[in-house]
Formats: sequence, structure tokens, C-alpha cells
Amino acid sequence: MAYRLRAGLAFLLLVTLFPEAPADPLPRIRHTEPDRLSIEDLCQEIGGKLGSVSVSDCLDQELQSSGDYSLLDRPLVVKEYPPLGQKIPLGRILVLGGIHGDEYASVSVMFKWMEILNIHHSGLFHWHFLPLTNPDGLLRKKSQRQNERGVDLNRNFPTSDWEDDALEYWTTRTGRSERRYPGPFPASEPEVRGLVKEIEEFQPDIIISLHAPFGLVDHDGPPTAPTKLGNLWLSRLGIYPGSLGNYGGIDLDTAVVTVELKYAGIMPSPSQISVMWTDLVRWLLRERRK
Ligand SMILES: [Zn+2]
Repeated sequence: MAYRLRAGLAFLLLVTLFPEAPADPLPRIRHTEPDRLSIEDLCQEIGGKLGSVSVSDCLDQELQSSGDYSLLDRPLVVKEYPPLGQKIPLGRILVLGGIHGDEYASVSVMFKWMEILNIHHSGLFHWHFLPLTNPDGLLRKKSQRQNERGVDLNRNFPTSDWEDDALEYWTTRTGRSERRYPGPFPASEPEVRGLVKEIEEFQPDIIISLHAPFGLVDHDGPPTAPTKLGNLWLSRLGIYPGSLGNYGGIDLDTAVVTVELKYAGIMPSPSQISVMWTDLVRWLLRERRK
């Protein structure tokens, strides 16, 4: 009894001294296989959410499941454009969208680029598309940047500086902004673990990540950056603890091109979508033929 009392007092003292001690601050969400959503379900939701992608546009892509799931059991979907015949691709290019769930255009443009590739894939590159990397953030009633339990996935990558800097940066530099919470520990989120697995398995030469709404192109890592993609010009934003640019560009020494579209909720024009794509392919050709 006395022991219990002492333990209780010690706990109270701890809570008083460290009111924000991060035990396991996030709600746990249980996985049960029968609850997992199919790709058809996911396409129904995407078609209901995005003005520029209909249910049939989504179904027509014949997306595959990567085998990983979001917190709310939505599949992480993949589209592969593999090498063709005897042609050796000039590189392995990973393209991902929607890591921030309220940047709608970053998902819609992925679908438009896949539609271009469906017609024009020539085996020049081996492409690996992940069009919707934060499905729970996008497909909530009110879309949000973070995943279902409030973690900014683009601050949750297991970068070498995460342990030392991520929570410190969040506290001192963002004033504990909810939108930029890096999570309780590196790769705490299943969506990030799924992405890390995709990167490990696919071994991309270059990673392209779509965001909005800064209207620019950012670049981290080895090769020369593209000076422009359509009407988006190179302007370096810098890196953050736990960001994909930091993880890919610095830790893995793999180029990461961040495409920041001009608007989160307004699509670029069809001609811009196609010029951005052409500029991207031209830059990749220059880089990979060096
Ligand atoms: Zn973003």
C-alpha cells in the first residue's frame, strides 16, 4: 500500500515536473485485415474528393497495392512503368504525390502525368509512381496536411538528424505548429515506413515529390537541379529534420526534386501540366546521359 502511494506520488511529481513528457502521445489505431480498403474503395473516395480525377479515371489506372496501409487501412497504391523489351532504362525514377493531404493538386497532377505515361511510356526510364502517399489526410471530410493522427509525414522520415533535431526544431522554430508535428519518433507512421520500404526496394536514382502551393522547384542531393519545370523556377527552400529532401538528398545521397505547384486547390492548365512533364523528362535525359 505504502509502495503504491509512493509510486503514485512519484508519478504525480513527474507529471508536475514534466507536464509534456512524450510517453506515447498519439492514439493507437488498430489494424484488422478484414477492415482493409480495396483499391476500388479507394478510387471511389478519390473520385468523390478530387474535382479533376473521376472514379473511372482512378480505376482506369489499374493501380496496385504496395502491401502497406495507412493508419485507417487505406492501401498505399503504386503504378509501375517497367523497362520495355531489351531497352535499358536511363534511370529509376520514383514520383510521389499527396504527402500533404490538403495539397489536392499534387495528387491530381500525378494522375494527369500517369495518363501521359500510359500513352507515351517508351522504356526510356523505369518509373515508379506513388500518387497518393497520405490517403487519410486527403480523404477525411476536411482534408488536412498531416496523417490521421496529426503527424506531418514530411517531417517523420528517419533522417540522421531526427533524434537530435526534429522535436527541438518543431518546438523552437515552428512554435509547436500542429501542422508540422514530426511525430513521437522517426518513422513512427505506417505511411512513412511504407515509403521507406518503397525507396529501399526500388532504389531510385532520382525522387520527384509533388507539393503545393509555393510555386517553385526545390532540389536536394547530388545532380544539378532543373532550372525550371513549366512556369515553376528553381528556388531552394532548405531542408528540415525528418523531411524527404533531407532523407533522400542527404542521408541516401539520392537527388530529390520537390515540385511545389502554385495552388493547392486549383489545377495547373492542361498545357502547363504537359510542359512541366516535358521539362522534367528533358532534365532527366540531360542528367542521366552525363
Ligand atoms: Zn507540401
